[in-house]
Amino acid sequence: METREMKTIGTTPSLLGMGCMRFPLQEDGTIDVAQTQEMMDYALANGVTYIDTAYFYHNGESEGVVGEILAKYDRSSYTLATKLPVWTMKDASDTRKIFEDQLQKLRTDYIDYYLLHNLSAKSWQAVKDYGLISILEELRAEGKIKYIGFSFHDEYEVFEDIIKYYKWDFCQIQFNYMDTEEQAGLKGYQLADELGIPLVVMEPVRGGALAKLSDDMEEKFKSINPEESIASYALRYVASYPNVKVILSGMSNLEQVKDNVATFSPLRPLSQEEIMAIQEVRVALEERIQNGCTGCEYCMPCPHGVNIPQNFKLWNTYHMYQNYEPIRFPMMNLPKRSQADKCVGCGLCEAKCPQHIKISEDMPKVWADLSNPIWK
Ligand code: SF4
Ligand code: SF4
Repeated sequence: METREMKTIGTTPSLLGMGCMRFPLQEDGTIDVAQTQEMMDYALANGVTYIDTAYFYHNGESEGVVGEILAKYDRSSYTLATKLPVWTMKDASDTRKIFEDQLQKLRTDYIDYYLLHNLSAKSWQAVKDYGLISILEELRAEGKIKYIGFSFHDEYEVFEDIIKYYKWDFCQIQFNYMDTEEQAGLKGYQLADELGIPLVVMEPVRGGALAKLSDDMEEKFKSINPEESIASYALRYVASYPNVKVILSGMSNLEQVKDNVATFSPLRPLSQEEIMAIQEVRVALEERIQNGCTGCEYCMPCPHGVNIPQNFKLWNTYHMYQNYEPIRFPMMNLPKRSQADKCVGCGLCEAKCPQHIKISEDMPKVWADLSNPIWK
């Protein structure tokens, strides 16, 4: 198993991290503990030492299952990462209660890597207003936390604000060969590198979207090496960035664990031919984009409440991957009052769009594609 040193904090985690948010489920929707145990046992036996969970993964069940499975292991043989659900907090008083609950569920008296979960402009303001960093520093002084970090989902400018605000031990961003310009993106990677802050990467295969491509795209990879999985290209792409110290994969079955472990044991750097194939796949995926909305928001606000850029972003993403999975959560988070079906076709927004998008013509097409029952 490939390992990478986080020099500033003196740790050497496994490059493959076990993401604990997509465990296999039983028919009643709860975690299949027996299968999960088999997966985690295999991962740990093959050198995975970084286990990443969170308070809300699997509706709060993940931490307890992870604690149960890891109880038989020596605590020094693995490291635990978990997260404080900042967006749910009304004030600072919940912090210690949630943290103690996490220790109990994880059957441990310390967390190695503790993150402020899912920071955005809004939740970052809450972190500052409630003084959450000071509370985490107190917990660190008490020996209950080793390293303080944050995970991030917002625009680059917000990322820059947050990462420059404090001497973080590490941070976690979304990064993959399709998302170099999204959220923190490549600019965020470079800034973290300059600041000497080691990175943990989530969504390296974009929620599974880069593990299964259309036949013509898969052929570009298979023609180079038929034995190599499609997911392995996405993982090796992320691994080609040296300040990425842990790559989290949210594995759902033993086969995926075996494939991911093989990708990192040992890690084989991408050849020039493989880099070209990734570039070709990226272009082919981007060609499926339906319109050129850049998300600039010049068209906003819509007098009827439609969130125009967000609807277009989801629509374009759906077409790129020809799959609802990558947009499931953002679609559920888009308020009904802002969805595409609220467009009355007045056309008032169109004169303001620098890309000259026929917004009133596209919105009914967006709704035809996104009014899928899976998130109703
Ligand atoms: S055309 Fe639709 S999206 Fe544009 S302003 Fe009118 S209602 Fe809003
Ligand atoms: S103005 Fe045009 S490009 Fe900008 S967000 Fe609106 S639709 Fe997209």
